[in-house]
Amino acid sequence: MESIIKTEGLQKVFRTDEIETTALQGVNLEIKRGEFVAIMGPSGCGKSTLLNILGLLDNPNSGSYQFLDTEVAQFNEKQRTHLRKNNVGFVFQSFNLIDELSVFENVELPLIYQGYKVKERKEKVEQILETLQIAHRRNHFPQQLSGGQQQRVAVGRAVVGDPSIIFADEPTGNLDSKNGDDVMNLLNELNEKGTTIVMVTHSQRDAQFANRVIRLFDGRIVTENIVKTNLQQVLS
Ligand code: ADP
Ligand code: MG
Repeated sequence: MESIIKTEGLQKVFRTDEIETTALQGVNLEIKRGEFVAIMGPSGCGKSTLLNILGLLDNPNSGSYQFLDTEVAQFNEKQRTHLRKNNVGFVFQSFNLIDELSVFENVELPLIYQGYKVKERKEKVEQILETLQIAHRRNHFPQQLSGGQQQRVAVGRAVVGDPSIIFADEPTGNLDSKNGDDVMNLLNELNEKGTTIVMVTHSQRDAQFANRVIRLFDGRIVTENIVKTNLQQVLS
């Protein structure tokens, strides 16, 4: 199976006035098309930093990153945005919804960037809102929603454009177990249809959906466990 992500020696250092934090110290990782990968590890170990770089939201300081066979480690913001537009869905840990836009408009946004016409946009958005059981809130604004509802909207926005890969940073972190299961079932369904999923999670329950769990500690991958025996099927 084709490799969709391949990193070698990824390093990320954050510099603020007085302190320098090495968030990633040499991450080597390969993810094949169709995989469902969970990234776990203690708070502060670099999970979000890694996901942001993999999701083309940020650059490493050094190392190589091949995304869909393109070397992107040195890409500038504009190049990353362009590549993200048609390939990447991202569920942010903090939702990142736009307060001035309704539920419908927040989910519709990626489709506008992708150049879909109005009618097609409406169909796609309504379908996702139904699936996520939030259609009755289509005209509400983010601040009128509960945390769980905002999380659904964030997931809807990430998946609506049918990206080839979805990155999700603790997608069930703000949800009770029933709502969390709905989100995980949606991600699982998309994965079964061929979408590659890379998810950061604290939850063993969520990690069970993954084919592979990667453990990070102090900016390094410490173990990679194959969770499901059907990984061979995925890879063959
Ligand atoms: P995790 O998601 O595993 O909790 P993060 O990737 O958010 O961890 O953070 C890894 C380390 O990098 C932490 O020490 C954090 O404080 C630091 N860090 C993350 N983002 C920034 C930033 N924008 N500026 C400075 N330090 C940061
Ligand atoms: Mg994090």
